[in-house]
Amino acid sequence: ATPTSIMVGTGRAAEMGVLFRKGDALQMLQETRVIAVDKTGTLTAGRPEVTELITTDGADEDATLAAIAAVENLSEHPIAEAIVRAAVARGIECGEVTDFTSITGFGVRGQVSGQTVLVGADRLMAREGVEIGALADTGASLGQKGRTPLYASIDGKIAAVIGVSDPIKRTTPQAIAALQGLGVRVAMITGDNKSTAQVIAAELGIDTVIAEVLPEGKVAALSELRKIGKLAFVGDGINDAPALAAADVGIAIGTGTDVAIEAADVVLMSGDLSGVVNAFDISQRTMRNIR
Ligand code: ADP
Ligand code: MG
Repeated sequence: ATPTSIMVGTGRAAEMGVLFRKGDALQMLQETRVIAVDKTGTLTAGRPEVTELITTDGADEDATLAAIAAVENLSEHPIAEAIVRAAVARGIECGEVTDFTSITGFGVRGQVSGQTVLVGADRLMAREGVEIGALADTGASLGQKGRTPLYASIDGKIAAVIGVSDPIKRTTPQAIAALQGLGVRVAMITGDNKSTAQVIAAELGIDTVIAEVLPEGKVAALSELRKIGKLAFVGDGINDAPALAAADVGIAIGTGTDVAIEAADVVLMSGDLSGVVNAFDISQRTMRNIR
């Protein structure tokens, strides 16, 4: 690659809102065979909404939601914000919480009116020894609809399952198809539930899904995909800055965090995947011109 053609390519990319922070990323991208994409906030809007609330037989919905929302009120996770919004929409006031703990990749815990409340993925319940029982089927059917099922327990007893929906960004389907058209294999990486992830992947024509990955497991998941060939990773930096740094080409989307921008080789001004298509396109054309 001549320095001049790299400069021209980098300049053209910048005009399209694709910032190459390192010159060799332009060349590296052209050699990329597989692109791993974070689901939440990258493929999807990242602003989930509560769509279902099912309590165990006989439990009062508002009282249960009040306890759950009280704990989630202290979490910054987008799922927590969705649950708090749902409670507020029902006119529920979030009570006092003590001993709040956030268990990254699992969920949250807190004391509400002297009771221990847990909210999170099925693996949180498994970890804390809470039997999900009859709500497991309800949760599974939520997952099959592409919802994220979240479980809540009060004093060690299962209390509710909540369905949360995070819609696919309008521009995502076309961007995935375009990347696949350029001969790149697309994979999804997420901390979300397996069946939820699979439903969303199927809607997008993505055949490689790595789900229920803990934040610290994302880098290890990438090394599997790395066996296919040169690897790019696209994320927003929430839980995935190490993955951005570990990939051959780390691509941060524009709505991402400062940490993401710091860790990335390429930064997209737009908050969606269409910038990734432009980045690939420019890198392929730049490299073709030199030969
Ligand atoms: P990702 O960003 O890929 O969705 P996270 O590691 O942030 O992954 O979360 C993984 C899973 O952990 C979520 O899908 C959810 O089930 C659970 N979780 C994490 N934080 C919370 C929270 N505050 N409330 C409820 N569930 C949570
Ligand atoms: Mg994320």
